[in-house]
Amino acid sequence: MVGDVAVGGDAPISVQSMTTTKTADVDGTVEQIYSLYAAGADIVRCTCNDFEAAEGLAEIIPRSPVPIVADIHHQYKMALAALEAGVHCLRLNPGNIKNEKHIKLVAKEAKDRKVPIRIGVNGGSLHPDLYKKYSNQVTPEAMVESALMELSYFEEVGFSDVKISVKASSVPLMIEAYRQLSEATDHPLHLGVTEAGPPPAGIIKSSTGIGTLLAEGIGDTIRYSLTADPVQEAKAGRTLLESLGLRERKNVDLIACPSCGRAEVDVFKVADEAQAAFADKKIPLQVAVMGCVVNGPGEARDADIGIAAGKGRGHLFVKGKNVAVVKEDEMVDELVKWATLINEKGVEETFKLKNVDIESAKAAAEADRDELLEEQGENVNEDKVKIANIRKLQSPEPLESPD
Ligand code: SF4
Repeated sequence: MVGDVAVGGDAPISVQSMTTTKTADVDGTVEQIYSLYAAGADIVRCTCNDFEAAEGLAEIIPRSPVPIVADIHHQYKMALAALEAGVHCLRLNPGNIKNEKHIKLVAKEAKDRKVPIRIGVNGGSLHPDLYKKYSNQVTPEAMVESALMELSYFEEVGFSDVKISVKASSVPLMIEAYRQLSEATDHPLHLGVTEAGPPPAGIIKSSTGIGTLLAEGIGDTIRYSLTADPVQEAKAGRTLLESLGLRERKNVDLIACPSCGRAEVDVFKVADEAQAAFADKKIPLQVAVMGCVVNGPGEARDADIGIAAGKGRGHLFVKGKNVAVVKEDEMVDELVKWATLINEKGVEETFKLKNVDIESAKAAAEADRDELLEEQGENVNEDKVKIANIRKLQSPEPLESPD
């Protein structure tokens, strides 16, 4: 348990992030913790690099909506001070503390207070002896050996409430290190790609590394390490877990068509506006933005609610059924209004509302669809032309060579 959040076993995978404020700045740190919590973080880590930070933690912890992990580097006294402040977990490597008496002291204090510890091995700061042993290379084997060595320091002093991470900035390296570690130990694993960098590459690297492992059933808690506002880390972590079906959806899952020759609106713009409009709404529905009424409602028929552009107006559909026609410049506002309604009342109750006239909404959508087909033709994307050309190539007749 990290505070009231279970980690490991059958517990839901948890999302972690880290504050970027000075921990001694209590109000600023609490404010950032709340933003991270709102964005989907279950656990937040704060640095505890000096005694001012430890004193800050003592004031932050009672005000925090989520359990707090203290990041400790080399000083055992910082670990003791963080425990005194009431942290719910420590992140440290006992090997960095070096002195056995000090390791024992931290372990005993953590054990008495039932506070777990994360051992955080990092590809970039592997112990020089191990680095040498593996021919001056950071390998998955070296990282796992380092983690097991760190673990043994705690085992020697009878402390076992431990989770482990073996992060690296190389995605293939971290994937392999975690795979090997999961074979070597039953301790819960904290996943991450370290120094992943700024988005979008940082998000892609982290999602690939963390997502691959989670899909293999490896990992218990995750952190995106982005060079960006940590709110983005928490959001990305949460979205990954929701998209893998590992956590219940908390926010809108926005789907949108890629746009094509049929689009009647600027789909990118409408989708961006919808994304911004739903950003802070806790509406766990799938919402679709589709560029045309010719194919949109059919292609997104599984969405809870969607909008498709028609002739200067938008057609709202719920679970594939047309429910209303709205002005083009009010498409996003109406989408939010209807999504809120469905979230509160449910689909069936929404269908029963007085202003929902499924028949006339359907007729209006069909009228626009017919008009667009008339205008654009059946084949606006020219796929039929392309298919006909491909078929010509299948003819047994030899092709004429160009002069
Ligand atoms: S056919 Fe319509 S819904 Fe499908 S991609 Fe094109 S514009 Fe979007």
